Parts: sequence; C-alpha cells; structure tokens
Amino acid sequence: MIVLVINAGSSSVKFTLFDIDNNKQVLANGLIERIGIEGTSMKYSNHKGEKFQQPVPVKNPTDAVKVIAEYLVDAKYGVLSNLSAINAIGHRIVHGMEKISKPVLLTKEAKDIVRECFSLSPLHNPHNLAGIEACEAVLPGVPNVGVFDTAFHATMQPHVYLYAIPYKWYTDEHIRRYGFHGTSHEYVSKAAAAFDGRPLKDLRIITCHLGNGASVSAVKGGECQDTSMGLTPLEGLIMGTRSGDLDPAVVLHIMKLTGKSPQELDTLLNKESGVLGIGGIGSSDLRDIEEAAGKGNKQCETALKMFAYRVRKYIGAYIASLGGLDILVFTAGAGENSSTLRAGILEGLEGIGFKLCPKKNSERSSEIRAISKDDSPIKILVVPTNEELAIAEFTTELLKNKA
Ligand code: ADP
Repeated sequence: MIVLVINAGSSSVKFTLFDIDNNKQVLANGLIERIGIEGTSMKYSNHKGEKFQQPVPVKNPTDAVKVIAEYLVDAKYGVLSNLSAINAIGHRIVHGMEKISKPVLLTKEAKDIVRECFSLSPLHNPHNLAGIEACEAVLPGVPNVGVFDTAFHATMQPHVYLYAIPYKWYTDEHIRRYGFHGTSHEYVSKAAAAFDGRPLKDLRIITCHLGNGASVSAVKGGECQDTSMGLTPLEGLIMGTRSGDLDPAVVLHIMKLTGKSPQELDTLLNKESGVLGIGGIGSSDLRDIEEAAGKGNKQCETALKMFAYRVRKYIGAYIASLGGLDILVFTAGAGENSSTLRAGILEGLEGIGFKLCPKKNSERSSEIRAISKDDSPIKILVVPTNEELAIAEFTTELLKNKA
C-alpha cells in the first residue's frame, strides 16, 4: 500500500509518501512553502538520500500537488515509476465539529462538513479543502481520506466540553470545546501503552504535546476524557505565539482601552503572545528563549517558568480528572527535546509519584524511551510523535476495512 499524506496549510503544502507494507518506509517527503507570496520554494528528499531545495512556479494548492506529483515520478529524484502506484491519499484536516469522530473517505458529504467548519477554523479548513480538491484534480480516481485533528476528542462528555455560557450558543452556533492535535495525542498514547507493555484499555495517560502549538490530553482506556485546547487552538497552554488560557475580560478590557477590532485581538492573542510576547526577544522558539534565559534575560526566564507552570497545572487537573495516573507522555518539538523544560515541569513532584531520572532525562535520542526512575509510581515517557505516519496508517486501515 503506497499512501501519500498531504497537509495543506495557508501558504504551504507538506507531503510524505509511505510504503506502508514495506516496514512503513518513507519513500519521499518535503514541502512547498511561501505559496502565493514571493520566493515560493520546494524542499524535497527521498529514501535514496537525494535532496534539493529550489524555487518552483507554484501559485496555488493545485500547482503544488502537480509539482509534488511530477517529482515523485521524476527521472532523477523520483521514487515511483508511475503515479498509478499511489493507492490512497491521507489528508490532515483540522476541524470536523461534532460530525466527524473518526477518519472518513472524503465523499461529497464529508467535504461539505469540511466546508461547514470554515467559520470555526478559518485559518485551516479552507486550505485543507483546497488540498483535497487539488489531489482530486491531479490524481483522479485515487481515494482521499480525511484524518481530523478534532476526531480523537469526540469522546469528551458534555460537562467537559461545554462552556458555561447560555446554552443556546452551543445549540445554535456549535460553540463548545473541541480540542486539536488529536492525531498526535492518539498516536503517542497508543505507542506509550505498547512500549509499556500494558493494555491501553487499563491505562490512565496524560499526553503533553509541546511544540510550537501545545496541548495536554487526559486519556482513559484509550479514549480522550479532556484536552486543553477549546473551540479553537487558543485555549489552554502557553504556546510559541498564543496566550492560552486567560480571563475573557482581558480581551474586553484591551478592546475598550484601544478600540482594537476582533481581528486585531485575534492577531494579538494568536500571533503576538505566548513566549514570544513574554520573552520580548522577537523569537517564539523555546531554544532561543532558553539560550537567552541562560545568559540572564529575566523576561525569558519568566516566560519559561510560565510555560512550565501552565503544563504542571494541567497535569494536576488531569490527575484529578482521571482519578490517578499511570503514564505521563512528553511529545513534539520541545517535549521530545528539552530536558530542562521537562525537569522544570516535574520539579518537586516526586511526592505525588513523578520520579524523574536526571540521567535518562538528559540523554538525547529520537527513540521512544522512559525517563523515570525504575521505582517511579508514574512512568514518564518521551514518545516521538509522527502525525504523518498516523494519518497514513489510519488511511490504510480505513481502505482495508472497506475492501
Ligand atoms: P509544530 O508545533 O510547529 O509542529 P514542533 O512540534 O516541531 O512544531 O515543535 C517546534 C518547537 O519545538 C520549536 O519552535 C521549539 O520551540 C521547540 N523545540 C525544538 N527543539 C527544541 C529543543 N532542543 N529545546 C527546546 N525547544 C525545542
């Protein structure tokens, strides 16, 4: 089974081509970025070790998929003799509202749901749909499967997902908490259980996805019980450029003070806040913030403490929500790579069962691993996430079940 995974964003299209039956080998991957703006370029690499980065004449998602397809069968860089070798395309789609709780074949009805979610996910769903339509045009006849970021969180109960505002906003406008990064939370919780050797159905797991976007999920018996993101990815943890949780009155107060529009507030909270806003060094990358803090920058030191403290608060809340904890998982860019961040989050929590092993925590690796002491009541794992592989596997499973 050869599966192409497509993640179409506002100005980029990322792709990975998997040979699932051959040990899930990545045949080729890359991205086309700066689509629709000056300097559009493509990064490409294949399993033979060949790679390039070069300008490409791409103006829209259809052009992008065309160029990707051309390179997959290119005489020099190609990995397929013919595009007909592609059995399926798996798409990362951000929002499926309450209508989608598992991967689906992207029929007309399913695409209508993707469209219905435009107002809830204006920055992602329109581009996701453009990616689907581009694939339909360039690779006709190949089944397209949608894997939704919100789907894993569909098991949350009403008392968890409702906001305490008049009920009609939920019934009339679908305003509730949905959660995101679901594909990653599901993938790492399954991988953690497999690594640990206990059945997923018996485990209470907290998964901390700490990348540029960041979220925490409480997973019981393989089902999501709660997650930190809400109606949009803005709720919850402090992130690279997002504020995370804040008193809604802050928004109203700033609007009253400055006369800023909802759009301007959206930019302030999504693009100018988080560690970028607190650190004040013009970077949202935790590596830069850690480096500056190490040189004595107080604002950056505070930004790191705030980031870690917010994660810690969610871990505490989710232990209460789950009624205890078996495994804590760190994943994504900062979760997988920053030993100081992990140590900061768990500092002083030995007494409630988190016995972090400093030596294991400081070892660098791209493999799944335990970083807790052998006698730690709660296992602490680092689990590299792989959303592309998860999408390819979901796609394969769905099509095999259909056949
Ligand atoms: P995205 O959320 O964009 O998919 P990633 O999961 O790849 O991103 O995470 C990217 C972020 O991870 C970077 O912006 C950076 O903040 C953080 N990061 C990556 N490596 C490290 C590291 N060694 N130390 C601290 N933070 C890191």
